[in-house]
Amino acid sequence: MKTIEHWINGSLTPGSASDAQPVFNPATGLEQAQVVLGGATDVDTAVQAASRAFETWSESSLTQRTQVMFAFRQLLVEHEEELGRIISAEHGKTVDDARGEITRGREVVEFACGLGDVLKGSFSDQVSRGVDVHNFRQPLGVVAGITPFNFPAMVPLWMHPIAIATGNTFILKPSERDPSAANFVAELYKRAGLPDGVFNVVHGGKDAVDAILTHPGIEAVSFVGSTPIAKYVHEQATAHGKRVQALGGAKNHAVVLPDADLEFAANHITAGAYGSAGERCMAVSVAVAVGDAADGLVEVLERKAREVKVGPGDVPGTEMGPLVTKAARERVDKAVGTAAAQGATVVVDGRGLKVDGHEEGFFTGPSLLDHVTAEMDAYKEELFGPVLAIVRAESLDEAIALINANPYGNGTALFTASGEAARRFQRTIHVGMIGINVPVPVPMSYYSFGGWKDSLIGDNPIHGPEGIRFYTRPKVVTTRWPRQTQNIAAGFDFPTSN
Ligand code: NAD
Repeated sequence: MKTIEHWINGSLTPGSASDAQPVFNPATGLEQAQVVLGGATDVDTAVQAASRAFETWSESSLTQRTQVMFAFRQLLVEHEEELGRIISAEHGKTVDDARGEITRGREVVEFACGLGDVLKGSFSDQVSRGVDVHNFRQPLGVVAGITPFNFPAMVPLWMHPIAIATGNTFILKPSERDPSAANFVAELYKRAGLPDGVFNVVHGGKDAVDAILTHPGIEAVSFVGSTPIAKYVHEQATAHGKRVQALGGAKNHAVVLPDADLEFAANHITAGAYGSAGERCMAVSVAVAVGDAADGLVEVLERKAREVKVGPGDVPGTEMGPLVTKAARERVDKAVGTAAAQGATVVVDGRGLKVDGHEEGFFTGPSLLDHVTAEMDAYKEELFGPVLAIVRAESLDEAIALINANPYGNGTALFTASGEAARRFQRTIHVGMIGINVPVPVPMSYYSFGGWKDSLIGDNPIHGPEGIRFYTRPKVVTTRWPRQTQNIAAGFDFPTSN
């Protein structure tokens, strides 16, 4: 049985681990590896390696750092298929979907390649007579990322390219459910010329996370995962004096107005709901059908849900793979049963789906629930599976009120032909990322990524210019170079410009 080890100071190490946990292939249901579970000792070893590396890496030139990022980007292109297969084998998503997340993550590397431009400071000439002011930004030191299972390549890539390009050193604690992508990325960084100790991977669960949150040598923590853990990470890390980015869970609504092209809307909502088996933070989990749109929309959604091709992620033509664990499959199946018991109409029932030759895989089919209300569990809980709930509303304003009352505010979409409705929607909705006739509004790497309310704890979104700001701190320098012969009086009152 393969053992997945930590990556510390440029090489694999079992660390102090006395404990390990199985890693499954969700399509077969079989254990395929064991991942070591790190704790305080391993985190401390990684912090020491990263601290030593910081001394030289933070002094490296912008050119050197940019060259590493260019080389790393090229390796991600060349190894996209291989990394995609690694992700698919542990997560369950299709290889093409995994390649999509790598591409999205690679765009953050491309943003980091432009470091020389985005890190430029500013300069003010003659703020007072003979006095100039300029500012510049410096790295924080050792920073850490704690990431979820659902995007084992992309979500860490939201963090480490910017942290490293700005001169920090990085410790990644990936999800213990699909840990191999992190080690593969570490090898690519090494081949790109990144010095040992700049990028480290410590595997594990709560013990490793707690060690990161409390370690005095770690300056900042980036977290993406479920809301309860995001709240915990935010509280603990800030209590220990660290900067924190903490992105949480989601319940994303797609509103369909009667003037929308129903076939188009249903097509995109189906892909947004069932793509990656609904295990995306931007998955569409609620369709809000407004007025006359409802019956026609349900009809098309039903047809499309029944057409989704479910199978192993590495079989060409598969559109939806299994869920990540057996427990996840059981949770989702139970939620469909609860919805029926609470009065929802189960239009398509994905429970009990068997894939030939993969009877032990963690598969469930697409489920479509109609007449869901805001009081039902299927509406209130983040199911994180291939379940689409339809809520019926009388008007756009009612749909907006429903979304604004929801505790989550990650993503939302509106399908309409009306510019006025789209403008009203985007201005009044309490959600951070909005799609107009786009079901999964995923901002580009040069914009920030992050929701509102319980989808983002604290006030730091991730990547883009926000990433540069988060992983650096500013210095403002006020300079005077008097001529040797000039006699400028030094005053004891608070200095003002003259
Ligand atoms: P999770 O919260 O269970 O795990 C995230 C990380 O926290 C993992 O590294 C895990 O090891 C660690 N962790 C888990 N339990 C912990 C505990 N008790 N104490 C300390 N650390 C703990 O999330 P997940 O199931 O891996 O991922 C799915 C969740 O992530 C969903 O809620 C999804 O919406 C969310 N997510 C959000 C975004 C976003 O951009 N907002 C993006 C991707 C995923």
